[in-house]
Amino acid sequence: MAGNFFRVQCDDCENEQVVFGKAASVVACAVCGSTLATPTGGEAEIHGDVVETVEAR
Ligand SMILES: [Zn+2]
Repeated sequence: MAGNFFRVQCDDCENEQVVFGKAASVVACAVCGSTLATPTGGEAEIHGDVVETVEAR
């Protein structure tokens, strides 16, 4: 399994952005720069609301 993608809605500006579930680096909102995900070594920790989970195939 390659891992999942999450559609995350930013808490600050409500921008929706797709984040890789095992992101290896910090993912920032493209609009306001708020942190959307931080790496933990495994599954990234998601900040904000996960709107949708997209399973990789
Ligand atoms: Zn934002």
